[in-house]
Amino acid sequence: MNSLIYLDNAATTAVKPEVFEAMKPYFLENYSNPSSIYTFAGKAKQAVEEAREKIAEALNAKPEEIYFTAGGSESDNWAIKGAAGACKEKGRHIITSKIEHHAVLHTCQWLEKNGYEVTYLDVDEDGLISPEELEKAIRPDTVLITIMFANNEIGTIEPVEKIGEIAKKHDILFHTDGVQAFGHEPVDVQKMNIDMFSASAHKFHGPKGIGFLYLRNGVKIDTFLHGGSQERSRRAGTHNVPGIVGMGKAVELAVEGMEERREKETRIRDYLIERIEKEIPYIKVNGHRQKRLSNNVNICFRFIEGESLLIMLDQKGICASSGSACTSGSLDPSHVLLAIGLKHEIAHGSLRLTLSEETTKEEADYVVDNLKTIVERLRSMSPLYEDFVKEG
Ligand SMILES: *Cc1c(COP(=O)(O)O)cnc(C)c1O
Repeated sequence: MNSLIYLDNAATTAVKPEVFEAMKPYFLENYSNPSSIYTFAGKAKQAVEEAREKIAEALNAKPEEIYFTAGGSESDNWAIKGAAGACKEKGRHIITSKIEHHAVLHTCQWLEKNGYEVTYLDVDEDGLISPEELEKAIRPDTVLITIMFANNEIGTIEPVEKIGEIAKKHDILFHTDGVQAFGHEPVDVQKMNIDMFSASAHKFHGPKGIGFLYLRNGVKIDTFLHGGSQERSRRAGTHNVPGIVGMGKAVELAVEGMEERREKETRIRDYLIERIEKEIPYIKVNGHRQKRLSNNVNICFRFIEGESLLIMLDQKGICASSGSACTSGSLDPSHVLLAIGLKHEIAHGSLRLTLSEETTKEEADYVVDNLKTIVERLRSMSPLYEDFVKEG
Protein backbone atom coordinates (compact mmCIF):
# COMPACT_ATOMS: atom_id res chain seq x y z
CA MET A 1 0.00 0.00 0.00
CA ASN A 2 1.16 3.56 -0.73
CA SER A 3 2.47 5.47 2.26
CA LEU A 4 0.32 8.37 1.09
CA ILE A 5 -3.38 7.81 0.61
CA TYR A 6 -4.65 10.58 -1.60
CA LEU A 7 -8.41 10.95 -1.32
CA ASP A 8 -8.79 14.54 -2.45
CA ASN A 9 -9.23 14.09 -6.17
CA ALA A 10 -11.98 16.72 -6.26
CA ALA A 11 -9.35 19.31 -5.28
CA THR A 12 -6.87 18.16 -7.88
CA THR A 13 -5.56 14.97 -9.48
CA ALA A 14 -2.15 13.57 -10.33
CA VAL A 15 -0.96 14.14 -13.88
CA LYS A 16 -0.87 10.77 -15.65
CA PRO A 17 2.56 9.70 -16.95
CA GLU A 18 1.19 9.48 -20.52
CA VAL A 19 -0.02 13.07 -20.19
CA PHE A 20 3.36 14.26 -18.97
CA GLU A 21 5.15 12.40 -21.79
CA ALA A 22 2.84 13.96 -24.36
CA MET A 23 3.60 17.45 -23.01
CA LYS A 24 7.38 17.13 -22.79
CA PRO A 25 8.33 17.76 -26.44
CA TYR A 26 6.30 20.96 -26.39
CA PHE A 27 8.60 22.40 -23.74
CA LEU A 28 11.90 21.16 -25.10
CA GLU A 29 11.61 20.75 -28.88
CA ASN A 30 8.47 22.26 -30.33
CA TYR A 31 8.53 25.34 -28.17
CA SER A 32 7.37 27.71 -30.90
CA ASN A 33 4.51 30.15 -30.62
CA PRO A 34 1.75 28.45 -32.63
CA SER A 35 0.64 31.80 -34.03
CA SER A 36 3.96 32.33 -35.86
CA ILE A 37 4.09 31.72 -39.60
CA TYR A 38 7.35 29.80 -40.11
CA THR A 39 7.28 26.05 -40.62
CA PHE A 40 8.72 25.40 -37.15
CA ALA A 41 5.49 26.74 -35.59
CA GLY A 42 3.42 24.28 -37.59
CA LYS A 43 3.92 21.38 -35.19
CA ALA A 44 2.74 23.38 -32.19
CA LYS A 45 -0.22 24.74 -34.11
CA GLN A 46 -1.17 21.27 -35.27
CA ALA A 47 -0.91 19.88 -31.73
CA VAL A 48 -3.18 22.63 -30.40
CA GLU A 49 -5.78 21.90 -33.08
CA GLU A 50 -5.61 18.16 -32.46
CA ALA A 51 -6.32 18.73 -28.77
CA ARG A 52 -9.25 20.95 -29.72
CA GLU A 53 -10.64 18.20 -31.94
CA LYS A 54 -10.37 15.57 -29.19
CA ILE A 55 -12.21 17.80 -26.71
CA ALA A 56 -14.92 18.63 -29.24
CA GLU A 57 -15.42 14.96 -29.98
CA ALA A 58 -15.76 14.15 -26.28
CA LEU A 59 -18.64 16.65 -25.99
CA ASN A 60 -20.30 16.01 -29.35
CA ALA A 61 -19.33 19.56 -30.32
CA LYS A 62 -17.41 21.12 -33.20
CA PRO A 63 -13.72 22.02 -32.81
CA GLU A 64 -14.39 25.71 -33.44
CA GLU A 65 -16.72 25.72 -30.42
CA ILE A 66 -13.86 24.92 -28.01
CA TYR A 67 -11.94 27.84 -26.45
CA PHE A 68 -8.83 27.30 -24.34
CA THR A 69 -8.74 29.09 -20.98
CA ALA A 70 -6.57 29.00 -17.86
CA GLY A 71 -8.94 26.64 -16.05
CA GLY A 72 -12.34 26.20 -14.48
CA SER A 73 -12.50 29.55 -12.71
CA GLU A 74 -11.72 31.46 -15.88
CA SER A 75 -14.21 29.48 -17.94
CA ASP A 76 -16.96 30.12 -15.38
CA ASN A 77 -16.11 33.84 -15.12
CA TRP A 78 -15.98 34.24 -18.86
CA ALA A 79 -19.21 32.36 -19.57
CA ILE A 80 -21.23 34.22 -16.95
CA LYS A 81 -19.82 37.74 -17.25
CA GLY A 82 -19.54 37.42 -21.01
CA ALA A 83 -23.12 36.29 -21.48
CA ALA A 84 -24.44 38.85 -19.00
CA GLY A 85 -22.59 41.60 -20.84
CA ALA A 86 -23.68 40.55 -24.31
CA CYS A 87 -27.34 40.20 -23.28
CA LYS A 88 -27.67 43.31 -21.12
CA GLU A 89 -30.06 45.05 -23.55
CA LYS A 90 -32.33 42.02 -23.53
CA GLY A 91 -32.40 41.59 -19.75
CA ARG A 92 -30.33 41.48 -16.60
CA HIS A 93 -31.68 38.52 -14.67
CA ILE A 94 -29.67 35.36 -14.06
CA ILE A 95 -30.71 32.09 -12.43
CA THR A 96 -28.25 29.89 -10.58
CA SER A 97 -28.30 27.60 -7.52
CA LYS A 98 -27.21 27.95 -3.92
CA ILE A 99 -24.67 25.14 -4.20
CA GLU A 100 -22.48 26.39 -7.04
CA HIS A 101 -18.72 26.55 -6.80
CA HIS A 102 -17.45 29.95 -5.69
CA ALA A 103 -16.18 30.61 -9.22
CA VAL A 104 -19.86 30.84 -10.17
CA LEU A 105 -21.34 32.21 -6.93
CA HIS A 106 -18.85 35.03 -6.49
CA THR A 107 -19.14 35.94 -10.17
CA CYS A 108 -22.92 36.20 -9.77
CA GLN A 109 -22.48 38.30 -6.62
CA TRP A 110 -20.16 40.61 -8.52
CA LEU A 111 -22.80 40.99 -11.24
CA GLU A 112 -25.38 41.85 -8.58
CA LYS A 113 -23.18 44.79 -7.58
CA ASN A 114 -23.11 45.82 -11.22
CA GLY A 115 -26.77 46.12 -12.07
CA TYR A 116 -27.86 42.50 -12.47
CA GLU A 117 -30.37 40.47 -10.49
CA VAL A 118 -29.67 36.88 -9.56
CA THR A 119 -32.04 34.17 -8.33
CA TYR A 120 -30.29 31.51 -6.26
CA LEU A 121 -32.41 28.35 -6.44
CA ASP A 122 -32.81 26.18 -3.36
CA VAL A 123 -31.89 22.52 -3.48
CA ASP A 124 -33.52 19.57 -1.72
CA GLU A 125 -31.88 17.53 1.03
CA ASP A 126 -29.92 15.56 -1.58
CA GLY A 127 -28.67 18.69 -3.29
CA LEU A 128 -30.93 18.52 -6.35
CA ILE A 129 -32.49 21.61 -7.86
CA SER A 130 -36.15 21.38 -8.84
CA PRO A 131 -36.85 21.84 -12.58
CA GLU A 132 -40.33 23.12 -11.68
CA GLU A 133 -38.89 25.81 -9.44
CA LEU A 134 -36.38 26.69 -12.11
CA GLU A 135 -39.15 27.22 -14.63
CA LYS A 136 -41.12 29.32 -12.14
CA ALA A 137 -38.09 31.53 -11.56
CA ILE A 138 -37.84 32.46 -15.24
CA ARG A 139 -38.83 36.06 -16.01
CA PRO A 140 -39.09 37.99 -19.26
CA ASP A 141 -35.69 39.55 -18.50
CA THR A 142 -33.92 36.26 -17.68
CA VAL A 143 -30.92 35.88 -19.97
CA LEU A 144 -28.84 33.10 -18.40
CA ILE A 145 -29.23 29.93 -16.40
CA THR A 146 -26.00 28.68 -14.82
CA ILE A 147 -26.30 25.45 -12.88
CA MET A 148 -23.48 23.02 -12.23
CA PHE A 149 -23.37 19.56 -13.76
CA ALA A 150 -22.18 17.86 -10.58
CA ASN A 151 -21.40 19.30 -7.18
CA ASN A 152 -17.79 19.36 -6.01
CA GLU A 153 -18.58 18.81 -2.34
CA ILE A 154 -21.39 16.29 -2.16
CA GLY A 155 -21.12 14.80 -5.66
CA THR A 156 -24.79 15.21 -6.55
CA ILE A 157 -25.46 15.22 -10.30
CA GLU A 158 -28.04 17.78 -11.37
CA PRO A 159 -30.82 17.07 -13.93
CA VAL A 160 -28.82 18.76 -16.68
CA GLU A 161 -30.80 17.45 -19.64
CA LYS A 162 -34.06 18.68 -18.10
CA ILE A 163 -32.50 22.09 -17.35
CA GLY A 164 -31.29 22.32 -20.95
CA GLU A 165 -34.77 21.52 -22.20
CA ILE A 166 -36.31 24.30 -20.07
CA ALA A 167 -33.65 26.81 -21.12
CA LYS A 168 -34.20 26.01 -24.78
CA LYS A 169 -37.98 26.23 -24.49
CA HIS A 170 -37.67 29.75 -23.04
CA ASP A 171 -34.82 30.78 -25.34
CA ILE A 172 -32.41 31.41 -22.45
CA LEU A 173 -28.70 30.61 -22.50
CA PHE A 174 -27.63 27.61 -20.41
CA HIS A 175 -24.15 27.42 -18.92
CA THR A 176 -23.03 24.50 -16.80
CA ASP A 177 -19.93 24.21 -14.64
CA GLY A 178 -18.82 20.75 -15.69
CA VAL A 179 -15.48 20.82 -13.88
CA GLN A 180 -16.26 17.88 -11.58
CA ALA A 181 -18.38 15.96 -14.05
CA PHE A 182 -16.09 15.91 -17.06
CA GLY A 183 -14.31 12.58 -17.29
CA HIS A 184 -16.77 10.99 -14.85
CA GLU A 185 -20.09 11.46 -16.61
CA PRO A 186 -20.84 11.31 -20.32
CA VAL A 187 -21.52 14.78 -21.74
CA ASP A 188 -23.42 15.51 -24.94
CA VAL A 189 -23.94 19.23 -25.48
CA GLN A 190 -26.46 18.59 -28.27
CA LYS A 191 -28.65 16.12 -26.43
CA MET A 192 -28.43 18.16 -23.22
CA ASN A 193 -28.96 21.56 -24.91
CA ILE A 194 -25.89 23.02 -23.24
CA ASP A 195 -24.77 26.39 -24.66
CA MET A 196 -21.64 26.78 -22.52
CA PHE A 197 -19.67 24.15 -20.63
CA SER A 198 -16.66 24.78 -18.35
CA ALA A 199 -13.95 22.23 -17.60
CA SER A 200 -10.49 22.17 -16.07
CA ALA A 201 -7.69 19.74 -16.95
CA HIS A 202 -6.25 19.30 -13.46
CA LYS A 203 -9.51 17.71 -12.29
CA PHE A 204 -9.10 14.84 -14.77
CA HIS A 205 -5.39 14.00 -14.54
CA GLY A 206 -4.22 16.80 -16.79
CA PRO A 207 -1.98 19.74 -15.88
CA LYS A 208 -3.01 22.74 -13.76
CA GLY A 209 -3.69 26.14 -15.25
CA ILE A 210 -5.42 24.97 -18.41
CA GLY A 211 -9.09 24.42 -19.14
CA PHE A 212 -11.66 25.05 -21.80
CA LEU A 213 -15.01 26.65 -22.42
CA TYR A 214 -17.36 25.08 -24.91
CA LEU A 215 -19.30 27.89 -26.55
CA ARG A 216 -22.08 26.90 -28.93
CA ASN A 217 -21.78 28.38 -32.43
CA GLY A 218 -23.87 31.50 -32.71
CA VAL A 219 -23.91 32.29 -28.98
CA LYS A 220 -22.67 35.82 -28.42
CA ILE A 221 -20.63 36.56 -25.33
CA ASP A 222 -18.28 39.44 -24.59
CA THR A 223 -14.55 38.93 -24.98
CA PHE A 224 -12.99 38.34 -21.59
CA LEU A 225 -9.29 38.78 -22.29
CA HIS A 226 -8.48 41.48 -24.83
CA GLY A 227 -5.26 41.40 -26.80
CA GLY A 228 -4.04 39.26 -29.67
CA SER A 229 -6.29 37.43 -32.08
CA GLN A 230 -5.90 33.95 -30.59
CA GLU A 231 -9.01 31.84 -30.13
CA ARG A 232 -10.94 33.65 -32.87
CA SER A 233 -10.15 36.97 -31.13
CA ARG A 234 -12.30 35.95 -28.18
CA ARG A 235 -9.60 34.94 -25.71
CA ALA A 236 -6.26 36.64 -26.18
CA GLY A 237 -2.89 35.36 -25.02
CA THR A 238 -0.21 33.05 -26.39
CA HIS A 239 -1.43 29.49 -26.27
CA ASN A 240 -0.25 27.34 -23.38
CA VAL A 241 0.86 24.69 -25.84
CA PRO A 242 2.18 22.04 -23.42
CA GLY A 243 -0.90 22.53 -21.24
CA ILE A 244 -3.26 22.22 -24.19
CA VAL A 245 -1.48 19.10 -25.46
CA GLY A 246 -1.58 17.60 -21.94
CA MET A 247 -5.27 18.38 -21.60
CA GLY A 248 -5.93 16.76 -24.99
CA LYS A 249 -4.18 13.60 -23.88
CA ALA A 250 -6.01 13.65 -20.53
CA VAL A 251 -9.35 13.99 -22.33
CA GLU A 252 -8.50 11.03 -24.54
CA LEU A 253 -7.66 8.87 -21.52
CA ALA A 254 -10.66 10.11 -19.52
CA VAL A 255 -13.09 9.23 -22.29
CA GLU A 256 -11.51 5.89 -23.15
CA GLY A 257 -11.57 4.57 -19.61
CA MET A 258 -14.77 6.18 -18.37
CA GLU A 259 -17.04 3.15 -18.02
CA GLU A 260 -14.45 0.98 -16.37
CA ARG A 261 -13.34 3.78 -14.06
CA ARG A 262 -16.88 4.57 -12.97
CA GLU A 263 -17.56 0.95 -12.10
CA LYS A 264 -14.33 0.58 -10.18
CA GLU A 265 -14.77 3.82 -8.25
CA THR A 266 -18.44 3.19 -7.54
CA ARG A 267 -17.59 -0.16 -5.98
CA ILE A 268 -14.99 1.35 -3.62
CA ARG A 269 -17.18 4.40 -2.96
CA ASP A 270 -20.13 2.28 -1.89
CA TYR A 271 -17.89 -0.02 0.12
CA LEU A 272 -16.51 2.99 2.02
CA ILE A 273 -19.98 4.39 2.68
CA GLU A 274 -21.36 1.02 3.76
CA ARG A 275 -18.53 0.33 6.18
CA ILE A 276 -18.70 3.80 7.71
CA GLU A 277 -22.48 3.59 8.06
CA LYS A 278 -22.28 0.18 9.66
CA GLU A 279 -19.35 0.81 11.99
CA ILE A 280 -19.56 4.44 13.06
CA PRO A 281 -22.69 5.74 14.81
CA TYR A 282 -24.23 9.24 14.53
CA ILE A 283 -23.17 10.02 11.00
CA LYS A 284 -24.98 11.34 7.93
CA VAL A 285 -24.14 10.62 4.32
CA ASN A 286 -24.53 13.79 2.24
CA GLY A 287 -25.58 14.00 -1.39
CA HIS A 288 -27.84 11.83 -3.51
CA ARG A 289 -27.20 8.10 -3.12
CA GLN A 290 -27.51 7.18 -6.80
CA LYS A 291 -27.29 10.44 -8.72
CA ARG A 292 -23.77 11.01 -7.47
CA LEU A 293 -20.26 11.15 -8.88
CA SER A 294 -18.62 7.75 -8.82
CA ASN A 295 -15.67 9.05 -6.78
CA ASN A 296 -17.42 11.13 -4.11
CA VAL A 297 -18.01 10.28 -0.46
CA ASN A 298 -19.25 13.06 1.84
CA ILE A 299 -20.17 12.34 5.43
CA CYS A 300 -20.93 14.39 8.53
CA PHE A 301 -19.82 13.04 11.89
CA ARG A 302 -21.82 14.48 14.77
CA PHE A 303 -20.04 16.00 17.78
CA ILE A 304 -16.83 16.47 15.80
CA GLU A 305 -15.02 19.33 14.08
CA GLY A 306 -14.10 18.48 10.52
CA GLU A 307 -10.78 20.30 10.86
CA SER A 308 -9.63 18.12 13.78
CA LEU A 309 -10.63 15.06 11.83
CA LEU A 310 -8.55 16.18 8.85
CA ILE A 311 -5.48 16.86 10.97
CA MET A 312 -5.65 13.44 12.58
CA LEU A 313 -6.20 11.71 9.24
CA ASP A 314 -3.21 13.61 7.91
CA GLN A 315 -1.08 12.15 10.70
CA LYS A 316 -2.03 8.73 9.30
CA GLY A 317 -0.98 9.75 5.80
CA ILE A 318 -4.52 10.28 4.55
CA CYS A 319 -5.28 13.37 2.45
CA ALA A 320 -8.92 14.33 2.70
CA SER A 321 -10.97 17.49 2.78
CA SER A 322 -13.85 18.93 4.75
CA GLY A 323 -15.56 20.32 1.68
CA SER A 324 -13.90 22.32 -0.98
CA ALA A 325 -10.23 23.27 -0.90
CA CYS A 326 -11.18 26.86 -1.58
CA THR A 327 -13.06 27.26 1.69
CA SER A 328 -10.65 25.48 3.99
CA GLY A 329 -9.11 27.92 6.40
CA SER A 330 -12.43 29.69 6.86
CA LEU A 331 -14.55 28.93 9.89
CA ASP A 332 -17.88 29.15 8.11
CA PRO A 333 -19.46 25.81 7.39
CA SER A 334 -19.86 24.91 3.75
CA HIS A 335 -22.60 26.79 1.89
CA VAL A 336 -23.46 23.52 0.16
CA LEU A 337 -24.09 21.63 3.40
CA LEU A 338 -26.19 24.51 4.75
CA ALA A 339 -28.17 24.56 1.49
CA ILE A 340 -29.10 20.88 1.88
CA GLY A 341 -30.54 21.81 5.26
CA LEU A 342 -27.84 20.76 7.73
CA LYS A 343 -27.52 22.66 10.98
CA HIS A 344 -24.28 24.56 11.52
CA GLU A 345 -22.97 22.23 14.18
CA ILE A 346 -23.51 19.17 12.02
CA ALA A 347 -22.13 20.79 8.87
CA HIS A 348 -18.93 21.56 10.79
CA GLY A 349 -18.21 17.84 11.14
CA SER A 350 -18.00 17.08 7.44
CA LEU A 351 -15.49 14.92 5.64
CA ARG A 352 -15.08 14.59 1.89
CA LEU A 353 -13.20 11.65 0.42
CA THR A 354 -12.79 11.78 -3.34
CA LEU A 355 -11.31 8.70 -5.00
CA SER A 356 -9.43 8.04 -8.18
CA GLU A 357 -9.37 4.86 -10.21
CA GLU A 358 -6.16 4.00 -8.37
CA THR A 359 -7.91 3.87 -4.98
CA THR A 360 -7.95 0.30 -3.66
CA LYS A 361 -10.16 -1.63 -1.25
CA GLU A 362 -7.12 -2.06 0.97
CA GLU A 363 -6.77 1.72 1.19
CA ALA A 364 -10.47 2.08 1.89
CA ASP A 365 -10.11 -0.38 4.79
CA TYR A 366 -7.13 1.49 6.16
CA VAL A 367 -9.12 4.74 6.04
CA VAL A 368 -12.20 3.32 7.77
CA ASP A 369 -10.12 1.57 10.45
CA ASN A 370 -8.36 4.81 11.28
CA LEU A 371 -11.51 6.86 11.00
CA LYS A 372 -13.19 4.68 13.62
CA THR A 373 -10.42 5.23 16.15
CA ILE A 374 -10.11 8.94 15.41
CA VAL A 375 -13.85 9.59 15.62
CA GLU A 376 -14.02 7.71 18.92
CA ARG A 377 -11.12 9.70 20.29
CA LEU A 378 -12.46 13.06 19.22
CA ARG A 379 -15.89 12.25 20.60
CA SER A 380 -14.42 11.19 23.92
CA MET A 381 -13.03 14.73 24.20
CA SER A 382 -16.28 16.44 23.18
CA PRO A 383 -18.47 17.95 25.92
CA LEU A 384 -21.40 17.88 23.51
CA TYR A 385 -21.01 14.16 23.07
CA GLU A 386 -20.73 13.69 26.83
CA ASP A 387 -24.03 15.54 27.36
CA PHE A 388 -25.63 13.56 24.58
CA VAL A 389 -24.57 10.23 26.09
CA LYS A 390 -25.74 11.31 29.59
CA GLU A 391 -29.15 12.23 28.26
CA GLY A 392 -29.27 8.79 26.65
C1 LIG B 1 -12.12 23.05 -9.16
C2 LIG B 1 -13.41 23.62 -9.59
C3 LIG B 1 -13.48 24.87 -10.23
C4 LIG B 1 -12.27 25.73 -10.44
O1 LIG B 1 -11.40 25.20 -11.39
P1 LIG B 1 -9.88 25.74 -11.48
O2 LIG B 1 -9.33 25.11 -12.70
O3 LIG B 1 -9.21 25.25 -10.24
O4 LIG B 1 -9.94 27.22 -11.58
C5 LIG B 1 -14.70 25.32 -10.66
N1 LIG B 1 -15.82 24.60 -10.46
C6 LIG B 1 -15.81 23.40 -9.84
C7 LIG B 1 -17.08 22.63 -9.69
C8 LIG B 1 -14.60 22.87 -9.39
O5 LIG B 1 -14.59 21.70 -8.77
